[in-house]
Amino acid sequence: DTRQRRQGVTVLGATGSIGTSTLDVIARHPERYRVHALTAHRSREPMLALCRHHRPAVAVLERESDACWLRERLAEADLSTEVRSGPEALVEVAEAGEAEVVMSAIVGAAGLLPTLAAVRAGKRVLLANKEALVMSGALFMEAVSQHGATLLPIDSEHNAIYQCLPLEHRGGLARHGVTQLLLTASGGPFRGWAAEALAEVTPAQACAHPNWSMGQKISVDSATLMNKGLELIEACWLFDASPDQVQVVVHPQSVIHSMAAYSDGSVIAQLGNPDMRTPIAYGLAWPERIDAGVQSLDLFSVARLDFEPPDEEAFPCLRLARDAMAAGGTAPAVLNAANEMAVAAFLGGRLPFTGIAELVARVRDAEPVQPATELEVILAADAQARRAAERYLARL
Ligand code: NAD
Ligand code: MG
Repeated sequence: DTRQRRQGVTVLGATGSIGTSTLDVIARHPERYRVHALTAHRSREPMLALCRHHRPAVAVLERESDACWLRERLAEADLSTEVRSGPEALVEVAEAGEAEVVMSAIVGAAGLLPTLAAVRAGKRVLLANKEALVMSGALFMEAVSQHGATLLPIDSEHNAIYQCLPLEHRGGLARHGVTQLLLTASGGPFRGWAAEALAEVTPAQACAHPNWSMGQKISVDSATLMNKGLELIEACWLFDASPDQVQVVVHPQSVIHSMAAYSDGSVIAQLGNPDMRTPIAYGLAWPERIDAGVQSLDLFSVARLDFEPPDEEAFPCLRLARDAMAAGGTAPAVLNAANEMAVAAFLGGRLPFTGIAELVARVRDAEPVQPATELEVILAADAQARRAAERYLARL
């Protein structure tokens, strides 16, 4: 019957910006998809609402106390969703046989283990959680090919590049006549600001992105351009590119989501309204196309497209990320961990905006770079970088 043919989907980070957009697309196609599991950190009330609406077989929260609360509410509502808690439960739902598709939309390093579990179980993995790939690049991509997982990038830029490349693009870009990947960046809310003015900006200003509505962490990353730095690293791993094959192009309208340049002079771009449901629908249905609920682009109202180079003096995080990719090994994991700590400190009022890049640079300078072939080494480098960041913050 049709219930059997529908694909099971696990959404890791279901209550977040990407998670809710994913559930919006899924709900438009009840004949194609069924929700197997939903996970969230501590937002138990939003999770209850999602369970009522999407009727998952399993729901996961971090703490057992929140899981108990949710179990009681679900029982009152006569819903049969099973509720689990803890990091092992995240891994279980990521590798469960009932889900063919796993949306990886937890923010930060917390997404690494469940995302890797989905990869190792050979799932179709929709990757929004860029931090996981930045931390473990070589190991992650090796696991994708070893376990026959289908990895589809959801980050809008990488999804765009994926659409601009030939269907079969393994074995290096040059083999397919691709000379460069053009990674577009909005420039964030402080584009054009002088370095001195940035010292005073508040979390509220940093989180008010001009074109995209996103979670707090990625909003701050967009404002520092660390997001573009993480995306540069992400692009290198996803498309087997070297850092100098990826050019960052500031494009304030966020209509072109990225491009691929070919040896014959062609540049292929993917355009659309800035709405994450487009890459999400692409990842869900690939190689087919389905309705995402997104209006088609009205070029007359867009009217013009502007491009400019990034300001790496005012926004040093981009260079820090490029350096970490060039250094290799655990350097990107250290960069990511220091950045997560710095962003949390900025949001908590412990660090000025310009302190984010400073903290990341200090921690990167202090931490040794090791080969990143073992997961344990990567996790240890992450933990050690967080301790170093905490020491730096304590001295302020
Ligand atoms: P968000 O903050 O809105 O949501 C994060 C989700 O992860 C929530 O469901 C939260 O409960 C869960 N979570 C947070 N910490 C957790 C933890 N320690 N353990 C388990 N679960 C945890 O974030 P978002 O904007 O949806 O972004 C999610 C990921 O997608 C990030 O890696 C981000 O870089 C990436 N991404 C987001 C966008 C976007 O438009 N929002 C675009 C591209 C990529
Ligand atoms: Mg992006």
